[in-house]
Amino acid sequence: MHGGERGTRSLRTVSASGAARSAIGSPSSGSGSKAVLLAQDEPPALTVERPEGASIFVLACDHAGRQVPRALGTLGLSDTELASHIAWDIGTAGVGRRLSERLDAPLLLQNYSRLVIDCNRPLDAPDSIATASEWAQISGNDNLSPAAIEARVGEVFQPYHDGLRQILDARQQERRRTILIAIHSFTPSFRGTARPWEVGVMYHRDARLATALLRLLRRDERLAVGDNEPYAVDDASDFTIPVHGEARRIPHVGIEIRQDLIADEAGQKTWAGRLANLLRQAAEALAAAESA
Ligand SMILES: [Zn+2]
Repeated sequence: MHGGERGTRSLRTVSASGAARSAIGSPSSGSGSKAVLLAQDEPPALTVERPEGASIFVLACDHAGRQVPRALGTLGLSDTELASHIAWDIGTAGVGRRLSERLDAPLLLQNYSRLVIDCNRPLDAPDSIATASEWAQISGNDNLSPAAIEARVGEVFQPYHDGLRQILDARQQERRRTILIAIHSFTPSFRGTARPWEVGVMYHRDARLATALLRLLRRDERLAVGDNEPYAVDDASDFTIPVHGEARRIPHVGIEIRQDLIADEAGQKTWAGRLANLLRQAAEALAAAESA
């Protein structure tokens, strides 16, 4: 999902220079930096599968995991809350892995809960480190010191985005055609209101791939397809697509899948198969349109 709650917020510009700026001074970016958040036996923020994959697609799951660093305890939440959709995008890691396998595409998985720090939020967003989400108060995120914030940025947010940036930079240098796919999932019912969609396609300034994918998804009349629903991409509430897709001017799309459809392996397999086919077709349609 993209957020717990979307209000009207003024648009702010997220640019490549903003991303570059946020990389400077990161504790992870220099040698001799000392981790203060993640212990040595804890997983890294980023897992990359098939970094050298031959596909034109690069897959990113910003909210794949729900780990919380031991140093942060439970963030003040129950086990049930930490297993729920407020903590992560249920099912996306499974869909991402299968899709990566089918497409031979690089896959980036962010392993820590979005409640540690949201890797799809600009660092200056009020809910970058959320103190509330839907029904829950996240007391472990109250009144954080600048050092505590810096640790989450430097050990979770930055390594994830540095990894994505490196893969995209390398492909750009090799002049490889690249399409960025951000995979998310959303809760079927939000604050008591059922959502009508099974899948949503998200985009903002560049609708090239989104338009093609929407058309293809809508051929299946059984599917309720959201056009920038249940979430839309914007600069205030998104990071991955504005920074790694739009600023780089590569085709991209965000895909939101309803969580109950991909909660188990069978559903993940179905959706990975569907998306593998449709993404290939959408990319072909795009290439044909560009060469016409
Ligand atoms: Zn998400």
